[in-house]
Amino acid sequence: MPEGDTIFRTARALGRALVGRSITGFRSTYPLLTRFDDDTPLIGQLVERVESRGKWLLIHFSGGGTLATHMLMSGSWHIYRPGERWQQPRANMRIVIENSEYIAVGFRVPVAEMHTALSLARNRKIPRSEMDVLSEAFDADAAARRLLAHGDEEIGDVLLHQEVMAGVGNVFKSEVCFVTGMNPFCTVAALTAEQADGLIAAARRLLTANVLEDSGDSIVTYGGRKRRTTHESDPGESLWVYGRKGEPCRRCGELIRRRLQGPDARVTFWCPRCQPMPDGSEIDG
Ligand SMILES: [Zn+2]
Repeated sequence: MPEGDTIFRTARALGRALVGRSITGFRSTYPLLTRFDDDTPLIGQLVERVESRGKWLLIHFSGGGTLATHMLMSGSWHIYRPGERWQQPRANMRIVIENSEYIAVGFRVPVAEMHTALSLARNRKIPRSEMDVLSEAFDADAAARRLLAHGDEEIGDVLLHQEVMAGVGNVFKSEVCFVTGMNPFCTVAALTAEQADGLIAAARRLLTANVLEDSGDSIVTYGGRKRRTTHESDPGESLWVYGRKGEPCRRCGELIRRRLQGPDARVTFWCPRCQPMPDGSEIDG
């Protein structure tokens, strides 16, 4: 599943192709979207803004409507010039938004909803901007309060709760725990307020570093910018712990552990020496 940094970059690219331009074509295989278009035609409207909120991508139209999409595992947005050959079969097309210069195609986008300002504000699944770790409106204090409300859950699980803080996916989860020295299997109740703030600040810092203009598509938390252009084939090369089971910790040399975590059995990586449990207990990896 794409993490928040991927959706952020997609929103930025779509924004450059669509924002401020008049829509000349709209098609979708989803009846609810075409019905919305029948009632309030999108042709002639402008795209006013494209934004990411966690793993959701929102396209705001000048007529007041908002198209909200979620990629889950399969979906992607592509941008083409008119006449350019698509990189996926037409059968995968779910949504097309055209203007005079670009064609934006949503392929296999599994979740797509049209919202009014009111239904968007009332929607409980789509995070508000201030919950999105990559948003300028992000409210870190409120995120810390939401995090600390999950005292009996493990840190590694709660970091993935999009209603606590939107944008962190499974790779960043392990990396954020490592850079803060927190054991992902430690419960939130064991955190001090300062440590909770530190986790949130680290999430924001790592994700933000991965949406800079010159960031590549793969996540980088370790090694700095120079490594970004190389080692494309091995994602673990640019990370502290994720994907590095059995390899030496980049800080202390201890072997990195791996274990499935939480109700969804998501994979978690950590260094037992750099990220000890507060009570000194050992977690099997
Ligand atoms: Zn270590």
